[in-house]
Amino acid sequence: DVEINHVGKFFGTLRALSGVDLSMRSGEFLAVLGPSGCGKTTLLRCVAGFEQIDEGRIALGGRLVALPGVHVPPHRRHVAVVPQEGALFPHLDVAGNVAYGLGRGRRDRAARVEQCLELVGLGGYGRRMPHELSGGQRQRVAVARALAPRPPLVLLDEPFSALDAALRSELRRDVRRALREDGATAILVTHDQAEALSMADRVAVMNGGRIRQVGTPAEVYRHPADVWVAGFVGEAV
Ligand code: ATP
Repeated sequence: DVEINHVGKFFGTLRALSGVDLSMRSGEFLAVLGPSGCGKTTLLRCVAGFEQIDEGRIALGGRLVALPGVHVPPHRRHVAVVPQEGALFPHLDVAGNVAYGLGRGRRDRAARVEQCLELVGLGGYGRRMPHELSGGQRQRVAVARALAPRPPLVLLDEPFSALDAALRSELRRDVRRALREDGATAILVTHDQAEALSMADRVAVMNGGRIRQVGTPAEVYRHPADVWVAGFVGEAV
């Protein structure tokens, strides 16, 4: 459903991505895990269409969206992005925010909005304004809004990093459940080993613009591909 083949990306002379290969099946939850500066956000931005690629190809749902010199713009990729924070429109209530990506003509609009709010544990919160919510609740709304139009792919860029530790673990669990119940295909970008290992079906460990290993959480934890992966993933305990 998501095919990333040998993707390379330069910023001037700096090589940010090198030979990145990833393929995901529909409904899968993949975490891209790596230290600061390894290229994970750049990879996400290439998939979303905010950056053009210099090498390789990206296909979403069987459709080629990126090749060197070929670039389908973000709004035509129908990919949903949940950023770190500040994703909500402050002048729209919660329901308005969640409904934002839904077509006006949709008869099931209100029902889908409420369904998505329930998925993230905020049933009945539709009339609240963003400033009346906690930071964690705002991130829940951002996830509900991403899921609402049933995008082919949801991209989560360190969505919990602005929250305190106690809130984070509860939110991880709830967001994981929401994505799964809705059958979403999702990529989570994080530098947090515990977050990646606890949430994802598979983890892609990145360093220096390259993917060092892809496997289930148990595989990368128990059978790291090299010394660097062993050291980095081992910090999870
Ligand atoms: P973090 O966890 O700190 O966000 P990251 O793994 O997401 O890091 P990227 O933001 O993808 O890393 O950056 C990868 C490399 O590309 C870094 O060396 C960064 O400085 C560089 N880079 C990213 N964006 C640009 C840009 N627009 N112009 C120039 N260099 C960039």
